[in-house]
Amino acid sequence: MTRLLVVEDEPGIALALEDDLTLEGYRVEVIQDGLAAVKRAREEPFDAILLDVMLPGKDGFEVCRELRRSGVRTPILMLTARAQEAEKVLGLEAGADDYVTKPFGVRELRARIAALLRRSQAGSAPPSVRIGDAEVDFARGEIRRGKETAPLTPLEFRLLQASSAPGDASSPASN
Ligand code: CA
Repeated sequence: MTRLLVVEDEPGIALALEDDLTLEGYRVEVIQDGLAAVKRAREEPFDAILLDVMLPGKDGFEVCRELRRSGVRTPILMLTARAQEAEKVLGLEAGADDYVTKPFGVRELRARIAALLRRSQAGSAPPSVRIGDAEVDFARGEIRRGKETAPLTPLEFRLLQASSAPGDASSPASN
């Protein structure tokens, strides 16, 4: 079942999202605080995160940046409050994959989530690939060589993932 983490502190919106997305067949978990959201998203493999900007604890941009810095690649849809260009750009720069502007319609949101999940599934690299005597583990965001393990930076992750994406002649056949 597809798991969504909804990070939204306004109870009315959070409840509406939870109800609607649960009806759509998603398994939904709601968190109302930025700090708790970072912790939760790092410990559980959600399929996508819906992230409000104005949050107690830590704002949505900071949550997004911190997750990307720590190697969490879960697709993030920012829920921006204003139709301001600056806020969209900030979100994308922080590592978000897409955004919707509040107030958003339920159908638009559903379509955005579906598109985000399709993209992340289509573009997903194999869980790990061997490069020389090293093994790159995309799920954990790490590179292992012998007994040593090092975290991948977001840039390394993207480069390695791009170079081992399906369709590349160098990627190993998984079946
Ligand atoms: Ca809010």
